[in-house]
Amino acid sequence: MEKFNPFKMAQQQFDQVADLLGLDTGTRDLLRVPMREYHFTIPVRMDDGGTKVFQGFRVQHNDARGPAKGGIRFHPNETVDTVRALATWMTWKCAVVGIPLGGGKGGVICDPHNLSDREQEQICRGWVRQVARNVGPLQDVPAPDVMTHGQHMLWMLDEYEKIMGAKFPGFITGKPVGMGGSLGRTEATGYGVMYTIREALKEHGVDLRSTTASFQGFGNVSQYAIELYQQYGGKAVAVSCWDQKDSKSYTFIRTAGVDLEELRAISDKYGSIDKDKAKKAGYEVADANAWIAQDVDILVPAALENQVNAETMGKITKRVKFVAEGANGPTTPEADALFKKNNIFVIPDFLANAGGVTCSYFEQVQCNMNYFWTKDEVLNKLDNIMTEAFHAVYDLARERKVYMRDAAYMIAISRVAEACRMRGWV
Ligand code: NAD
Repeated sequence: MEKFNPFKMAQQQFDQVADLLGLDTGTRDLLRVPMREYHFTIPVRMDDGGTKVFQGFRVQHNDARGPAKGGIRFHPNETVDTVRALATWMTWKCAVVGIPLGGGKGGVICDPHNLSDREQEQICRGWVRQVARNVGPLQDVPAPDVMTHGQHMLWMLDEYEKIMGAKFPGFITGKPVGMGGSLGRTEATGYGVMYTIREALKEHGVDLRSTTASFQGFGNVSQYAIELYQQYGGKAVAVSCWDQKDSKSYTFIRTAGVDLEELRAISDKYGSIDKDKAKKAGYEVADANAWIAQDVDILVPAALENQVNAETMGKITKRVKFVAEGANGPTTPEADALFKKNNIFVIPDFLANAGGVTCSYFEQVQCNMNYFWTKDEVLNKLDNIMTEAFHAVYDLARERKVYMRDAAYMIAISRVAEACRMRGWV
């Protein structure tokens, strides 16, 4: 089987919608590839005295609507095509929720599990030294992503400010609260996913309190999606996560409903649940794909890309009526075709998980004013933006009788294409 390439998938999705919109050749050629890419090495003196050279990336897909915006991912399997795809999706994500930012993404091929804090700090500082002149509050604003957190952002901010010789709190988002971070950022992506699920269920006349859901991943996105889902009265029956020791994933099932706090207490900072402790607590520990085979109403893939694919989609039960993509690019075009055929309602990734970047935008706004909002204020503003964006996409999907992913793309791509046109680029 050909190796999954997320960038090819992002281009395939773009081409389809470019056809639907009848985009001219110039605009297509501009938007189907990134505007700028930086590939660089990061030499790090390791704790054992040796030097290891890491590979880093920053990709700026499009900045017609504002400075590029997007996370930096630390992952052993990172590739430039993953970063390109994620940067492209960031462009559409900022456009679909209507915030004045473009799309970017960065990464380093590394596994933080095997790196000390000092080594990680050196990677962060080295990354910034290589791109300091090409990023910044008015050019491109990084943020955390898989396996990077507030501490990494602060090391990066500190290096940037040292190079520039001044304070630039708007250089990076996802900073710890009290150090320029926004209240509500930790919850934002997961809660945003749930705001869109809440609206989707309402539109379909389904009472959320009567539903069950299964989640892939137990990291930032998944944990906060589950938190709000349970507050709304839904029942989460399964979560899956990666097990570093066994180098594979497991699913943790409790049909009576998982206890979020109990699972948090037995998981590490990377969102891996201790399977022995989970067994003792009465969870069934099943294989990696069991999360997708659960007899539930809602599936929430919130781990990595390429998880709902030709191989796994056959396991989806007839009861599943809603899929909310917490992760970026979790569904391949083959699985999309199945969703269309079986009338499964999909809330596409760049709409469902846009809460994170929306709150990052709030963080920038607050940093620029040097005045910080309460958590309620942040979450209310977030709910308003997510709810409005969901309904704009939903209304267009109904009006034009198109799939939700296509409708979201139509709105996002039209906005970006219009910005390029108005600037005289195409
Ligand atoms: P995270 O690092 O906090 O958590 C990732 C979770 O996925 C962990 O529980 C890990 O064990 C699990 N996981 C990893 N590989 C797995 C596998 N093969 N099978 C099952 N589980 C696996 O990451 P996160 O911030 O929650 O991000 C998850 C996804 O959401 C990513 O696709 C990310 O790009 C996307 N996303 C995150 C944000 C954000 O604000 N954090 C915003 C938008 C999109």
